Amino acid sequence: MGKLLFLGTGSSLGVPVIGCQCSTCQSSSPLNKRLRSSILLTSQGKRILIDASPDLREQALRYKINKIDGVIFTHAHYDHTAGIDDLRIFHFINKKPLPCLVSAETAEELTKRYEYMFAVQPFEQQNASRLQLIPLAGERGQLVFETIPLSYFSFQQLSMKINGFRFGNLAYVTDIKSYPETIFEDLKGVEILIISALRFTSSPMHLNIDEAIDFSKKVNAKKTWFIHIAHEVEHEKTSHYLPDGIELAFDGLEFNF
Ligand SMILES: [Zn+2]
Ligand SMILES: [Zn+2]
Repeated sequence: MGKLLFLGTGSSLGVPVIGCQCSTCQSSSPLNKRLRSSILLTSQGKRILIDASPDLREQALRYKINKIDGVIFTHAHYDHTAGIDDLRIFHFINKKPLPCLVSAETAEELTKRYEYMFAVQPFEQQNASRLQLIPLAGERGQLVFETIPLSYFSFQQLSMKINGFRFGNLAYVTDIKSYPETIFEDLKGVEILIISALRFTSSPMHLNIDEAIDFSKKVNAKKTWFIHIAHEVEHEKTSHYLPDGIELAFDGLEFNF
């Protein structure tokens, strides 16, 4: 169906964490260097960004992303939206507002925090709004975004509503902590699961490694990639711990699906 590139696989602080002396943060391995989580999906000639991380500018330069056709936001937390200002360049390049797929809840937060990205500036021509918000209807559904068919579903991270997305046999599920059982219907038949797994100890905000392993087994995915990984997780050591079919993703990893 397309190609996926991991632009970042780190938790909200990124890895290394500023000032941290732990062995992961001090490691020289590129597998232990994680920008904030985001992916680039290429399908049917369209390039779709999932989340605009605070590292977006660096990610775009590193992976030579000169054009994107749309953005999908999973939710409004800083580590998934703080790169929003760097989306201006794609508005300039495309010469039209950049389509952004969001839930009503995320749209409300984004328009509050980044009002200037949506307002028409007095000295600019028409179409000056940089982003065009396209709302997701309800908690679950299907639609075509920039020619790419997808389905979406919802779950919770404390009080924050998050959306997961499915593109054919691949699903992207980040920042998950609690979820309705219907999620396993939404994920039925998924072969490639990308899911957040923060660290080994438990977290009020995220599934930990063992919880994410259990989730993946329940989905029965052939291949699971963990993302949103904190500095407590050293790449090589953790890779030995994970069962067959489950691996830590890393920045720059790319595959076709
Ligand atoms: Zn550290
Ligand atoms: Zn996050």
